[in-house]
Amino acid sequence: MSKVAVIGGGASGLTAAIYAAMRHEVVVFERNNECGKKILATGNGKCNMWNKDQSLDHYHSSSAFIKDFFHENMDIFAFFQKLDLVPIEKEGYYYPHSKQAITVRNALERVALQNGVVIQKNFFIQEIKKENNQFILNPNFEHLVFDKVILACGSKCAPKTGSDGIGYELAKIFSHTVVMPRPSLVQLYSDASFLKEWNGVRSEAEVTLQIDKNEIKKEGGEIQLTKNGISGICVFNISRSVKEALDHHRKVEVKINFFPDCDDVFSFLEKRSSLIKDVSLDVFLEAIIPYKLAFVLLKCAHLSSNMTWNVLKPEEKRDLVSVLTAFTIKIVDTNSFAEAQCCSGGVSLDEINLDTMESKLVSNLYIIGELLDVDGDCGGYNLGFAWLSGIKCGKNC
Ligand SMILES: Cc1cc2nc3c(=O)[nH]c(=O)nc-3n(C[C@H](O)[C@H](O)[C@H](O)COP(=O)(O)OP(=O)(O)OC[C@H]3O[C@@H](n4cnc5c(N)ncnc54)[C@H](O)[C@@H]3O)c2cc1C
Repeated sequence: MSKVAVIGGGASGLTAAIYAAMRHEVVVFERNNECGKKILATGNGKCNMWNKDQSLDHYHSSSAFIKDFFHENMDIFAFFQKLDLVPIEKEGYYYPHSKQAITVRNALERVALQNGVVIQKNFFIQEIKKENNQFILNPNFEHLVFDKVILACGSKCAPKTGSDGIGYELAKIFSHTVVMPRPSLVQLYSDASFLKEWNGVRSEAEVTLQIDKNEIKKEGGEIQLTKNGISGICVFNISRSVKEALDHHRKVEVKINFFPDCDDVFSFLEKRSSLIKDVSLDVFLEAIIPYKLAFVLLKCAHLSSNMTWNVLKPEEKRDLVSVLTAFTIKIVDTNSFAEAQCCSGGVSLDEINLDTMESKLVSNLYIIGELLDVDGDCGGYNLGFAWLSGIKCGKNC
């Protein structure tokens, strides 16, 4: 039986601890006065803990090795059962039956304790040394000695939950490469002049990320138009490469189709105008899109709201259809790490044995969860990776 230290009592750390405790003496060190603070914030407090669609394109990394992680078919439902959770599915998204994230956090902690894991709260690990095949945590004061260490410190996002990037520094002590972390699943900022006018509007839309005019990713869903730019799950899902592109001075734009379900908006408007004749454009549009948005779009198409569809010249009609279906907004920044739901980048997967999560550089050192260079789409994929990497590590360490 080895002595195993888990640094971080979040989703991945507690999962690894539960499995490692079957064969080892395990201590979890958590800097906060409670474990899993981030879990409590997930899915708006409901915890979207898994997704039925596990195709690889929902997980992202700068390493091609990511596909190797998913070679093994892991039974996530056996894990949920171990936690005595009752998962319910809605349109492919899994939640605990209680629809409360605290159920998941409490289950992890309870099962860890039942399996003999010791949880040390309010315990911050700021330094690790390896000497004579053993790890010494906080060598200058506590001097705690372990045979194996699992780094599960999270990334740099939502630092108020305890993950402030210290995990990257601990990994760097052992010469691990950290791919630059950037905010992902995050609101996108623009400097357009009309943002105050559309603030608060929500609309169904299809959004397309364009970098230097090349289409990168398309997503559909509810868009939120804010005083800083654009938000909503569909925007989050196209956000991961934005910060990197901006850092490299590339042109970032999002094209928004406010009529995603209509193939021929021109004909739709022509037909509508034949039914309701001679109404001003604002009234003409108000019935089909939010009125605040109608005003912004008319302004951007350089059309007066007093005009009617019938008096528009053909090119003006085309301009109006274009702002409705291919409205292009320039993106100048993303929201901060504090507001992001995850980070792109992290400890390089190239340096991790993806069958065991052990470091290829230092034996008996393991790295899991969001600290690694893996980020998932919205929809249960980030917790999904935390569970899966925790299980693999705990079983194999
Ligand atoms: C607002 C929000 C909503 C989200 N919603 C979802 C969702 O619905 N579905 C989904 O799949 N994902 C969601 N995510 C992402 C998901 O929560 C994370 O990917 C996941 O929790 C990562 O788990 P982790 O264990 O790797 O890291 P973390 O959860 O960040 O845990 C790391 C833990 O380590 C502790 N720690 C760090 N450094 C030290 C140290 N040196 N010493 C001691 N302790 C330390 C921290 O205090 C923390 O408790 C959301 C994230 C946010 C911010």
